[in-house]
Amino acid sequence: MAILNVRQLGDEILTKKCKPVRLITGRIREIVEDMYDTMYDAGGVGLAAPQVGILKRIVVIDVTPADDPESGEPAEPMRYTMINPMILETSGEQRGYEGCLSYVGMSGIVTRPEKVKVRYTDENGDVYELEGEGLLARAICHECDHLEGVMYTEHVEGEVITNEELDKLMKEQAEKENKEGDA
Ligand SMILES: [Zn+2]
Repeated sequence: MAILNVRQLGDEILTKKCKPVRLITGRIREIVEDMYDTMYDAGGVGLAAPQVGILKRIVVIDVTPADDPESGEPAEPMRYTMINPMILETSGEQRGYEGCLSYVGMSGIVTRPEKVKVRYTDENGDVYELEGEGLLARAICHECDHLEGVMYTEHVEGEVITNEELDKLMKEQAEKENKEGDA
């Protein structure tokens, strides 16, 4: 187990295209484990290998929802190791705030497809096709962009804001909606 250093925006490695993984070796599985450790430590829902300085096409994603607040029942895990992921199809559109562990504390609005179909190999060498929607679709697109050397900031509509500003905005919006509901 190792927590790796997450490269930040401005680091040249984040602009580089990653190489496919040809053989899933013990070393690759070690990288995957370290990527999960690093992602959980940073409180993220996705991480791509170039973010920890490794120019290989490896992505980890965990968008498992919180446990049911009433029953305490754990949600179905949504944890995916994607080696050499390839987006096959996209459909629909979602517009929302997005952040990145390589640009800590900041968020910006990005439009992504609502649904994404992706083919990938996992750390055991098994090939999967997965259809993701909502947050999972957003995470797949965001992480696959990293493998091409693209940061979400290249897609941002309007300004990138701090997470404090975002919290304030969300609160204001909720209050406004409450008022509208009362009227
Ligand atoms: Zn990112």
